Amino acid sequence: MTKKLSAKCAKCPTVVCVPRITADETPTLDKAPAFCPMKVMPDVIENAVAEYDKPDVKEFARLASLQEFECYEHTPDGMRTKNPRILELFQFAQKCGYKKLGLAFCAGLANEASILTDMLENKGFEVVSVRCKVGATPKERIGIKAEEKIRGADSWESMCSPIVQAEILNSEKVDLAIMLGLCIGHDTLFIKYCRVPMTVLAVKDRVTGHNPLAALYLSSSYYARLMSKTK
Ligand code: SF4
Repeated sequence: MTKKLSAKCAKCPTVVCVPRITADETPTLDKAPAFCPMKVMPDVIENAVAEYDKPDVKEFARLASLQEFECYEHTPDGMRTKNPRILELFQFAQKCGYKKLGLAFCAGLANEASILTDMLENKGFEVVSVRCKVGATPKERIGIKAEEKIRGADSWESMCSPIVQAEILNSEKVDLAIMLGLCIGHDTLFIKYCRVPMTVLAVKDRVTGHNPLAALYLSSSYYARLMSKTK
């Protein structure tokens, strides 16, 4: 039995899902690669697209696309972008009619959380914020050994507790949770347990000013080691 191909959009040479045609034409799959998910799993796509028939999902998706549209402007010199992500956050939350926002932030970004809270409150939002160390639960609770503590074996270290962050924002019934700088893995748990709409303002990257793509942009020079093959 031949194995079903997996989607590899990142390696696609033709990108027929972004056809350069007019609105009254129909896209074709003639030039789509064999690994194109539109060829390999049309049933999955059809079922997923059907989700947009749910009125609340459709409206949310419409507002998200409207937000995307409003981030560009047409000038005599051509189309250009205009809005940083934080401004988009304000605009999208307003579009959705959200009043109460929840901020799940990393202790390492406490200053950023304070600035963001001021900004959001100045825009008229109510802000509930929860630091990752909430609960003051010792790292030993999850099996961290003394020698695995960042500040040394003798120090108390509160664990990052993304599940507590998520459950507090769930119980506060915030309209939208915002992740700010949670560590990798901690963010995964937060996403798993968060049951309110959620977006990400920034992810943790300790050496790039929380801009992980900086290392990718430097992968042909200063961070070439990222591209080397694992032996
Ligand atoms: S959906 Fe198909 S055409 Fe579009 S990028 Fe993926 S493989 Fe290429």
